[in-house]
Amino acid sequence: MLPAALRCALLTPWLLALSAAAEPASCVAPLRPAAAGPVPAASSPARLAALPVVRFAGVEYVSLREAAALLGMKTSWAEKERRLTLLDQAGKAEFEADSREISLHGLRLFLGKAVLLRNGALYVSRIDFERALATRLQPAVLGAPPSRPRVIVLDPGHGGNDNGMENKRLGLKEKVLTLDVAQRLKKLLEVRGYRVVLTRNDDRQLGPDKPTDFKKRAEIANRAGADLFVSIHFNSLYPDTKTSGTETYTFTREFQRSDRAASPLEPDDTEREPAPVNRFDPWSALLQQLVHREVIGSLKTLDRGQKTMHSAVLRELDCPAVLVESVFVSNDGEANRVATAGYRQQIAEAIAAGIQAYADTLAALQPKPPAAPAVSPPSSQP
Ligand SMILES: [Zn+2]
Repeated sequence: MLPAALRCALLTPWLLALSAAAEPASCVAPLRPAAAGPVPAASSPARLAALPVVRFAGVEYVSLREAAALLGMKTSWAEKERRLTLLDQAGKAEFEADSREISLHGLRLFLGKAVLLRNGALYVSRIDFERALATRLQPAVLGAPPSRPRVIVLDPGHGGNDNGMENKRLGLKEKVLTLDVAQRLKKLLEVRGYRVVLTRNDDRQLGPDKPTDFKKRAEIANRAGADLFVSIHFNSLYPDTKTSGTETYTFTREFQRSDRAASPLEPDDTEREPAPVNRFDPWSALLQQLVHREVIGSLKTLDRGQKTMHSAVLRELDCPAVLVESVFVSNDGEANRVATAGYRQQIAEAIAAGIQAYADTLAALQPKPPAAPAVSPPSSQP
């Protein structure tokens, strides 16, 4: 986590960045207020603001039935007053009372707050609905999407003295694997016409200590005018060598605990202020969903879920962002696979497919140019 002094004091409400109708939000030119001021509480985009909000224990919730109606989705109880399914042509989401975990389009997703059962109805927190669910269920719901991405910044995790996670038995270092996957991914994206910037292109640290290193990575992305940011890592749980699978992360949504601190038994790590990257939560959510889908679909790895963390490398970004932990280097089976160039190419291709799916979704959401007025033939004068 970055010290408070490094945090951006000039925070733009995400609503402004995402719903300025006259100028669709772009990471290239984020809107910023002229002077520092208190950070306003999250506002709801116009369409979502129509949803009635109720408070339970001081937290704002929305009814899943009313949310489904707003999105034009059907609901049905998989188990009365316990498990509710929302569905439409695009897919379905399955919610269970008292659980943070939901299944969305067949993928695992962890909400910041558990689903609540009250008076025979299920509720999700307003922040979860607006920032984690709405764009995943219906990308058009916010009305004004960011412009189609052109500049993509890839962040190979670790480097220099920081090896990242290591599988010493197999002689694997995370910093080497992340750079290799990022360089492969760069080529794949450049072929598709994107401008791609790497936060590091060789074996180096970007600062004398971790906070500076993280800050520099975000600075490179912001200076490059990144339209999206993908940080590449590999997972490890030593001394556990059994755990395997794929996790993806976005920055923790404002006023929520990260997944690591989700249990009430853990210290509460909720942050008092939103981070700059929180302005893009709904689009980071969509990017995460599509990258997660492609990586798991391609590698056939165990789905360990879409999660959040207070990642210092994501905090200061001016664009949607996701961090990918495709496999575990502490699991010899997955480590043996990732030791091969073919498997690392497969990881790069899967992430590229996820990015492309995100770009295609945004392209489909762009407002259509007004039709040219019909030119009527000159009337013939008698
Ligand atoms: Zn890492």
